[in-house]
Amino acid sequence: MDSWKLLEEGCLSCQKCPLGKSRTHTVFGVGPHTSDILFVGEGPGQQEDLRGEPFVGPAGKLLDDMLLIIDLGRYNCYITNIVKCRPPQNRDPLPTEQDACFPFLQEQMRLLQPKMLICLGRIAATRFLGSDFKISRDHGKWYQKDGLWITAIYHPSALLRDVSKRPETFRDLKSIQAKIKELGLAI
Ligand code: SF4
Repeated sequence: MDSWKLLEEGCLSCQKCPLGKSRTHTVFGVGPHTSDILFVGEGPGQQEDLRGEPFVGPAGKLLDDMLLIIDLGRYNCYITNIVKCRPPQNRDPLPTEQDACFPFLQEQMRLLQPKMLICLGRIAATRFLGSDFKISRDHGKWYQKDGLWITAIYHPSALLRDVSKRPETFRDLKSIQAKIKELGLAI
């Protein structure tokens, strides 16, 4: 069995934190295992929990529309979350839950070897860029860590709640598109 399959099977049956008890489905991630580009959100919502796929509810539809603007999609990006099981009532995943689940994402990244990481929202951004990161202040900025280019944009759920954030997110998306071109990433 290949490494991805082994990792996914371990994740699907995981009970390392309390979220494993309340989930309907574990949401491992989707996308080609050869992608240079990785999107990471915070955790599955209700629709994702029911279907076992990330970003399939209203926020997922918006994410698909956002990606389409810059010629990206599930066919050329890998998409996953910090925690793979739904937090009850869509609350933020607790630090202990994030810590328990993070090794799955680390292993996904080891296998994927992405060149670009786009954090969707505050939870993913602070996990990768430190607790001082402020999504309202720092979205769209670029960081480089160990050869990996990292940026963060507003989570699509935040853009559904507050449409005034959409113009600046459009600029962030165009910045991502420009960086993909600059780096010569395959899409
Ligand atoms: S959230 Fe992650 S660590 Fe917790 S049970 Fe689910 S897969 Fe395991």
